[in-house]
Amino acid sequence: MTDRRRGPARAVLVAIDGPAGSGKSTLARALAERLGVERLDTGAMYRAVAWAVLRDGADPADGAAVAAAAGALALEVGERVVADGTDVTEAIRGPEVGAAVSVVAAHPAVRDVLVGRQRAWAAARAGGVVEGRDIGSVVFPDADLKLYLTADPDVRAARRAEEGAVALARRDRLDRTRAASPLEVPAGARVVDTGAHSVEEIVEEVLGWL
Ligand code: C5P
Repeated sequence: MTDRRRGPARAVLVAIDGPAGSGKSTLARALAERLGVERLDTGAMYRAVAWAVLRDGADPADGAAVAAAAGALALEVGERVVADGTDVTEAIRGPEVGAAVSVVAAHPAVRDVLVGRQRAWAAARAGGVVEGRDIGSVVFPDADLKLYLTADPDVRAARRAEEGAVALARRDRLDRTRAASPLEVPAGARVVDTGAHSVEEIVEEVLGWL
C-alpha cells in the first residue's frame, strides 16, 4: 500500500458502489470508523446539486445549466451537508430532490465537476472510504479495495420505505442505463450481499480483504 515514489505512506482507499438501499452508507460509516479514516458520500454531492438546481428554478434536464450550478456550488459534505451556506442535510433526502437527482447525475459535465472534487477530497486526506455509483469504475479505479453491494430488491425497498419502491426502481434504472458512468460492477470489485449478513460480519470479512 505504501508507494515510495509518492512520498509519505498513504492511508487506505476503499471504494463502495451499489444501487439504492444496498447498504453503502451503513457499511462506509462502520468501515471508516474501524480504519480511522473519513467517509465521503458522493450521492449527497449529486443530491446537493439537484437541490441547488431546484432552488434556482433551473431545468434538471439542461446539462449546461446544471453543470454551471455544480461548478458554482459551495459544498461541504460531512455528517451534515451544507450547500451555499444552507444546511441541506434533510432537504436533500426529500422526494423533490430524489426525483431530480438521477436526471442531474446523468450529465457528463456535471459528473466531471463532482469527480474532480471527489479526487481532491481523497488527495487532501490521503485516503478514505468513498461511496457512490462510479467510485470503483471511474473515480478511483486503483482503490485498495473495491466493493459492490447488492441486496434483494424487496430488502432494498424496505430500507428506503419513505422513498417508495417505484421511485427507487426508477432511480436505479436511470443510474444503470445512462451513457456516462452507469452503475455497474467495477472490474476487480468484490460483490457483497448485504441482506445475508449483519453489518459486523461484513465489516470483519471486508477488513480481511485489505
Ligand atoms: O447514494 P444516493 O442514493 O444518495 O445517490 C443519489 C443519486 O446520485 C443516485 O441515484 C445517482 O443518480 C447519483 N449518484 C451518481 N454517482 C455517484 C453517487 C450518486 O450518479 N457516485
